[in-house]
Amino acid sequence: MVAMTTGRQNVAVLGSTGSIGRNALEVIAATSDRTRLWAISAHSRLQQAVDQARQFQPAYLVAASPQHAESFDWSTLPNHTRLLRGPESLEAVARHEEVDTVVSAIVGSAGLRSTWAALEAGKRVALANKETMVVAGPLINDLLAQYGGQLIPVDSEHSAVFQSLSAGRRGDVSRVVLTASGGPFRDFTHTQLEQVTVEQALDHPTWDMGPKITVDSATMMNKALEIIEARWLFNLSPEQISVVVHPQSVVHSMVEFIDGSVVAQLSPPDMKLPIQYALSYPERWSGPAERIDWADVHQLQFLPPDPDRFPALALGAEVARQGGTAGAVLNAANEAAVASFLQGELKFTEIVAACRSILNQHHFEPQPTLHRLMQLDAWARQEVTRWVCT
Ligand code: NAD
Ligand code: MG
Repeated sequence: MVAMTTGRQNVAVLGSTGSIGRNALEVIAATSDRTRLWAISAHSRLQQAVDQARQFQPAYLVAASPQHAESFDWSTLPNHTRLLRGPESLEAVARHEEVDTVVSAIVGSAGLRSTWAALEAGKRVALANKETMVVAGPLINDLLAQYGGQLIPVDSEHSAVFQSLSAGRRGDVSRVVLTASGGPFRDFTHTQLEQVTVEQALDHPTWDMGPKITVDSATMMNKALEIIEARWLFNLSPEQISVVVHPQSVVHSMVEFIDGSVVAQLSPPDMKLPIQYALSYPERWSGPAERIDWADVHQLQFLPPDPDRFPALALGAEVARQGGTAGAVLNAANEAAVASFLQGELKFTEIVAACRSILNQHHFEPQPTLHRLMQLDAWARQEVTRWVCT
């Protein structure tokens, strides 16, 4: 169990200026009798981080990018808050003895090392950074077994599965059904998908998220990454994980047991709830998350996904089956391809095509080290650059 050093839970929010990070700060503000914001971190939005420091008076602010930190005027940082610079400082904060819980809310594989450091120090990690599990799921599970940390999912689907699993015994689970909003292009034809603009891709119908995951939702790569995340988080076989499109994003995911019972978790689409649950678990606290208004008329739809228009899904299932180095290659190729799409260098439909091509080229290894995974992360990003140039 997490050791509470002050009676209140000391929380480090890594990636505090992002969509998850800002929601985490709202949860902490609303539960300040139980939680204390102990550290924050930012990459480029440093003024926003300073404003957060002025409001919450954390002990530490990590400016993860030394280049951005260099050119910033720090004169308004409160005296009480110590400034640390560089990616290594994220790890130092994550393992600091005064930290109880690390909210891992950095986007991309840039969030892996600090998550790793927190688990190596036996902390509780509230995990939004799904890329960590995609890249290094089996190694993360080894860390959990070795150092006794806790990994509580923040991703809404995985929080729903985590909550639903408590309705039965692990051995009695037959499968997990991940829900997907289907994104803004759920009903687009192939031809329409070819012509999707950056602006269209950044406009998500139900969730307000950072740009990378918003594009991932539009390609359904987000669901592909979540299949892989679920495989390692819950130790499921890939055949036990299915995906259903549910445009309303109210049923966050479901667990089916061997007797045919399906247990689900429902709530309005609001990340504050899964963030708070990752802090409160095994308790539940009243908090700022929105409630379903049952006086309203609700229609909940469930539709099969279309693997033809959304080829990312098959890629996710395949990588979940392969394990080894495949997750790191898929993840890095996708991060780089999304960045290229956002810069106008790749077409929307080329994002998944580039990932497929780079995954096919790589030399698969079944049991890579973290070092090897990081090498392949760099390699896959270079391959995307080559793909863009040809
Ligand atoms: P975002 O883009 O809004 O925020 C990203 C955060 O990461 C920012 O605080 C930024 O400063 C930091 N960051 C970016 N690059 C960095 C780097 N190289 N080094 C250190 N810090 C860096 O992203 P988000 O939507 O908040 O998503 C964060 C994570 O949570 C992602 O892994 C995403 O998949 C996951 N997630 C998000 C949501 C959501 O609703 N936004 C839901 C489920 C899971
Ligand atoms: Mg999700």
